Amino acid sequence: MPQLSNLDDTIVAISTPVGQGGIGVVRLSGKNALAIADKMFVARNKEKPSEFKSFTVRYGDVVRRSSGEVFDEALLTLMRAPKSYTREDVVEISAHGGVASVRAILKLAVDLGARPAEPGEFTKRAFLNGRIDLTQAEAVLDMIHSRTEAFLRVSANQLKGELSTELEKIREQLMSAYVAIEAIINFPEDDVDTEKKWALSLCGRMQEAQKAIQQLLASADHGRILKDGIRVVICGRPNVGKSSLLNVLLKQPRAIVSPIAGTTRDTIDETAQIEGIPFQLVDTAGVLEPRDLIEEEAIRRSQMSIRGADLVLFILDAGAALDAEDEKLFDLVRGQNLFIILNKCDLRSKIDEGKVKAAFPDAPIVRVSALNKEGIGELEKRIAAQVWHGKVVDTHGILISNARHARALQDALAAVAQAQDTLKKKLSLEFVSEEIKRAVSFLDTITGRHVDNDLLEQIFARFCVGK
Ligand code: GDP
Repeated sequence: MPQLSNLDDTIVAISTPVGQGGIGVVRLSGKNALAIADKMFVARNKEKPSEFKSFTVRYGDVVRRSSGEVFDEALLTLMRAPKSYTREDVVEISAHGGVASVRAILKLAVDLGARPAEPGEFTKRAFLNGRIDLTQAEAVLDMIHSRTEAFLRVSANQLKGELSTELEKIREQLMSAYVAIEAIINFPEDDVDTEKKWALSLCGRMQEAQKAIQQLLASADHGRILKDGIRVVICGRPNVGKSSLLNVLLKQPRAIVSPIAGTTRDTIDETAQIEGIPFQLVDTAGVLEPRDLIEEEAIRRSQMSIRGADLVLFILDAGAALDAEDEKLFDLVRGQNLFIILNKCDLRSKIDEGKVKAAFPDAPIVRVSALNKEGIGELEKRIAAQVWHGKVVDTHGILISNARHARALQDALAAVAQAQDTLKKKLSLEFVSEEIKRAVSFLDTITGRHVDNDLLEQIFARFCVGK
């Protein structure tokens, strides 16, 4: 197994998804990237890749120079160290996007001495070579997996280093407190007044650091929601319009809509975006009497989804009287975080709303027509308002969206609180400085200034090959 942190060799990978596409990119990074490129690319103007200026693109052929075999026509882009993604020499070959073509180019590069890259290894090199810190590397991953524009914006801010800058400010604050304490420890003052002043200024610095950490942590709930989304389950008896509503919320047809009851035989999982929040919508099959084994399994899954949901949209048909099936479902959804949706409000109302209200006195009731797309905007607004608890979420600012970061911030906060407590109790200053150092080291795990190898492996293993 090649060592992941070995920076001496030249790595290569297909950086575009493998499949048919307009173009496919093979990327090389490392000391021999240029030498390998010279052996496998002939530019139409005959200039050798190792002689290209940085940031130039040349049109030519990918060939095995030794045999003259031509593989594909391609564009070769060169980015010389240190101004490249990895801070090493990087060569990108954009070829025709067929599987065979990019695979052949990859194999050729390996034959010429490159090593197939591990998942995330390009980004890992960018980190190890000091071009980005760990929060930025994680932002790259988040951008790739981002399901909404709002979260993409949050990740882009993190990639620009906004979180790192904020953490650096807090770190400086703590370090200045640490240095001050060390000074007092090493050069004790006889003058009590001066010592009191020191202590006050120390408290001030620690309080500011504490406030800044708390502010970051306050954004963690919103960050998590933006990143992971909310699990919304749509349920209701057959034919109330679950699939129709799902399609309207997804803004594209996905579930089968049919006038025959019980056509959604399985749960359907989709991600919709409602006011910038990713929602995983689950359309449940009828959760009532199974007619066969497949339905039995579908029902079991539906019941599990309802229990595991962050929010349940319980749909009733406003154009029909409540029936025994509806009322059976009452028991199933009771106690869940619930929205009651009266669908088909384009029809003459036959539903006994008083009975629904009496059964669910606290749940909001929203009237919609999935057919005419009426009331949908209002429904989306109310769902979003409930998710954000009425708070305004600024996705242009810094948001903590990573559970690892949130945990480290909590640990840092606890250490700062401990330091303040120790200072107040007038215990030895050594204990105070020890706690501050601990707080700093927690912050350093976020940016990767101090991080153990296992954690790095874990983080980069989540990347795809070629990134
Ligand atoms: P599901 O079984 O709960 O998934 O229900 P579907 O979405 O398949 O819809 C059942 C039937 O109700 C279909 O014929 C839909 O066209 C119809 N339907 C759905 N929503 C509405 C609505 O808002 N108004 C009216 N009038 N019909 C609707």
